[in-house]
Amino acid sequence: MTGRSTPVLLHNGLLIDGTGGEPVADGAVLVEDGLVRWAGPSDELDARPQAAGPVRRVDVRGRTILPGFIDCHVHMAAPGGALSHAEIAAMPASLRVFLAAPRMKLTLDAGVTTARDLGGADAGHREAVESGLLPGPRLLVAVAMLSPTGGHGDFRAAHDDGANDPVMGQLADGVTGCRRAVREVLRQGADCVKIAATGGVWSPTDQPGDEGFLEDEIRTITEIAAGHGGRKVAAHAQGRRGILNAVRGGVASVEHGYEIDDEAIDLMLERGTFLVPTLTTANTDPDPQKAAGWAYAKKKHWQAVARRHVPHAVARGVRVAMGTDCGIAEHGTNLRELEHLVACGMTPMGAIRAGTAEAAELLGLAHEIGTLEAGKRADLVVARGNPLTDITALGRPDHVVLVMKDGVVFKDLDGLMT
Ligand SMILES: [Zn+2]
Repeated sequence: MTGRSTPVLLHNGLLIDGTGGEPVADGAVLVEDGLVRWAGPSDELDARPQAAGPVRRVDVRGRTILPGFIDCHVHMAAPGGALSHAEIAAMPASLRVFLAAPRMKLTLDAGVTTARDLGGADAGHREAVESGLLPGPRLLVAVAMLSPTGGHGDFRAAHDDGANDPVMGQLADGVTGCRRAVREVLRQGADCVKIAATGGVWSPTDQPGDEGFLEDEIRTITEIAAGHGGRKVAAHAQGRRGILNAVRGGVASVEHGYEIDDEAIDLMLERGTFLVPTLTTANTDPDPQKAAGWAYAKKKHWQAVARRHVPHAVARGVRVAMGTDCGIAEHGTNLRELEHLVACGMTPMGAIRAGTAEAAELLGLAHEIGTLEAGKRADLVVARGNPLTDITALGRPDHVVLVMKDGVVFKDLDGLMT
């Protein structure tokens, strides 16, 4: 890690600052005290009066400078392969946490400097990163997904009368039950709230087309979350009826949204609701050796649904923020989401913005992160090549050569800073 004292000027790179403005061919970013002091064309900086002290100049020729990416949907507690909730539930709680540490590092190394964990990671994960104990992306945590009985957060088999694993899902029913459940995750330090508005692939007793929480339950959760520091609600919602319940109930984002239709799109456009299509997991084939037969069949069916519906939502201009569902998909592959977004019709610049400025908007952090502008946190990545001509390059962690968070270098494959 590098100290924060000497200002660093990254220059001679293609600068994509996340604002959506034209890329700058010979761009530069000046970083000081963990913040971006200036970003723009190198020659404009050279024309300015020089800073008082020495500035370390780092030539990033042949590479692109971008804001640190933001993944709005991860699960650090999940292994990133075929899921067995029974296996996860059987683990000692401490082992689950230890296993999350290398996943957090992989995520940061992939170029993700902020991530929203939508179930399974408690506030200690966030604090471990904040305090410098563990390297990882800045975390916002939902603690546990709230779900109705038999919904997507209920991982008990049909004949199981025991308690649900509260780390994976907190069960609540009715407006009164939902009030209590949301207050409980807020008490535990949740930065955001995750709810099950439909069934899902990996829950054993429901279908992705089934409704989860109903509109009145969702509304009470969004109102209580809003009353706690304006916290936002993310809805796991795959089938169309649940997507509509979620949007009408006032959620900030529809996660997955595989069966999104024009009725939902109209409402989302009107309300500014984000879609986080998690195409990385949608496009990951489950391992037929490891996945239960019922989960495999659901996954294949809903993959096809997503491929029909998500491009239409993109074409109609629904706000999209990048989220991968890594934890279900393999950890550290986060920026492959960008190429999936492009395959759904976004421009490479649009996909990059979904993973930076737009994601920051969804997380309520646009004043701090998401673009390379003076005063923002110095979260940035330097990648080989030009992602505007080849978006797939960003999806390869070996192409993401430099990762800086709050001005601190966590990865430097090309030895640029040495
Ligand atoms: Zn998820």
